[in-house]
Amino acid sequence: MSEPVPAAPKTKATARRATAATARNGASAPPAQGSPEQTTMTERLAEEGRDFSDHKGVWVYIQQRDGVAAPVGWQLLGQATQMAKALGVETGAVVVGHDVRHLAEQAIQYGADIVYLVDAPVLRQYRTHSYALAVAEVIRRHKPEIVLYGSTNDGRDLAGAVATIVKTGLAADATQLGVEVETRLLQASRPDFGGKLMSTILCKQHRPQMATCRPGVFETPKPDPKRKGHIVEEPFDLREEDIPTRVEAFIPEKSQVDLASAKAIVSGGRGMGGPEGFALLEELAEALGATMGASRVAVNAGWVSYEHQVGQTGQTVRPKLYIACGISGQIQHQVGMQDADIIVAINRDPNAPIFKLATYGLVGDVFEIAPALIRRARELRAKGAEREPVGARKNGA
Ligand code: FAD
Repeated sequence: MSEPVPAAPKTKATARRATAATARNGASAPPAQGSPEQTTMTERLAEEGRDFSDHKGVWVYIQQRDGVAAPVGWQLLGQATQMAKALGVETGAVVVGHDVRHLAEQAIQYGADIVYLVDAPVLRQYRTHSYALAVAEVIRRHKPEIVLYGSTNDGRDLAGAVATIVKTGLAADATQLGVEVETRLLQASRPDFGGKLMSTILCKQHRPQMATCRPGVFETPKPDPKRKGHIVEEPFDLREEDIPTRVEAFIPEKSQVDLASAKAIVSGGRGMGGPEGFALLEELAEALGATMGASRVAVNAGWVSYEHQVGQTGQTVRPKLYIACGISGQIQHQVGMQDADIIVAINRDPNAPIFKLATYGLVGDVFEIAPALIRRARELRAKGAEREPVGARKNGA
């Protein structure tokens, strides 16, 4: 069998670290080619006469609210386009909602060749029942080979419901995607067993192959306003009285912390010692024009709130500058920040794993180094040399 094709070239930072990370974490390779287990499976499918040749296309579900798409849809279109090219099929997108034709047009700009648009008044707000029926119906009609969703609250909810209706599997929370051209198998990989292993999940016996994928992990492709594609309007005749739930109001959570779009992040871990340590980090973040992040240990200890957490069970971030203070750099933290352009690690243990990942490493006590950085940043600001957040500049470290 052929080697799996990564869905998209990795970012500089990921490529730099992927090999080391794989070796370090014992990440699993795809199942051994030609292993007895795999041969048996292939033979069994052939014997059962299961033929998936009528399933074609790599699709992305474009999540939206109030006519605004979640960025993960565009990020996944970048991946889908690479996979579709490798498989020699079209890239598809599914847009569901009301008054959302503009999103179908946008999806074409981000790489979709064909967009299935389900636009109806009952679909104005997300509800599991109506959206799952809409997506499942389009899947049944057009038979895609692969469907990707963002691992957002809505995306996870929807993908599970769709998988149940169309009777297929679902890989949850993928952080890497690839496709093996010969077997046409989607390879959805994610950290597993508490982050100690990377698991690659395959769906051999059902179609479409489906996965939810973490937001912020994949790069957003550049939209091309000149790109051409087709929009197919799909009929949908569900009545309001057939939907068991009503949305009375949508009250968004008020979060002051926007890690996802931060250009610079100053993050703290156990090494900050307590809430006082985070007060110092807040000063550093303020001096650098950065947002404050944290490891799970710091969050669990109650030193900072969960919205600051970076990592496997927190947020995935891609800032230009990430400063890790008193963070050891365990794999569960790494998966959330390894794609930062520049990583600066401050740690008094020269053997801390974070140094393997860091662009610049400062071995020493964070309580000596952070005040020095704050002083310097403030001096630069006072001189007017620092008009933009440090992370906004390439040589920001
Ligand atoms: P530690 O590993 O204890 O490291 C503290 C570091 O601080 C050490 O390297 C030490 O040398 C350094 N230090 C101490 N004092 C100083 C000082 N004065 N100056 C400089 N350096 C100092 N973790 C996350 O962060 N995010 C997640 O989303 C996440 N999800 C997880 C999900 C699962 C299923 C599991 C099992 C774990 C998860 N974890 C996550 C936890 C993760 O495994 C680590 O336990 C955690 O990241 C460690 O946090 P830390 O680096 O702050 O603490």
